[in-house]
Amino acid sequence: MAGGNAIRGTRVGAGPMGESERGESAPRQRVSYWCANGHESRPSFALDAEKPESWDCPRCGLPAGLDEKEPPKAPRNEPYKTHLAYVKERRSDADGEAILAEALAKLRAKREG
Ligand SMILES: [Zn+2]
Repeated sequence: MAGGNAIRGTRVGAGPMGESERGESAPRQRVSYWCANGHESRPSFALDAEKPESWDCPRCGLPAGLDEKEPPKAPRNEPYKTHLAYVKERRSDADGEAILAEALAKLRAKREG
């Protein structure tokens, strides 16, 4: 009866990428990178690791650099322009819906008045 009833589920917190909490004991530094779109990403590196001069922006995929005022130029033919255009389209759609909703509200107010 004794033993054999080890507590289960205490290691649920282990990440899906297989990272282990114990691996975080080394001191780390956070480094800010800036992309041409003004996004800041702050990956962390081991203190004794050499930090790369550029980092891919996790938000838009453009190369990001260490200098906020002079981020690396966006490469030509980057596929994210289509995505940006898509986002802009969506935004104007939302504006259109808002205008429509406002017009409907006015219409209803008129009817009731
Ligand atoms: Zn970005």
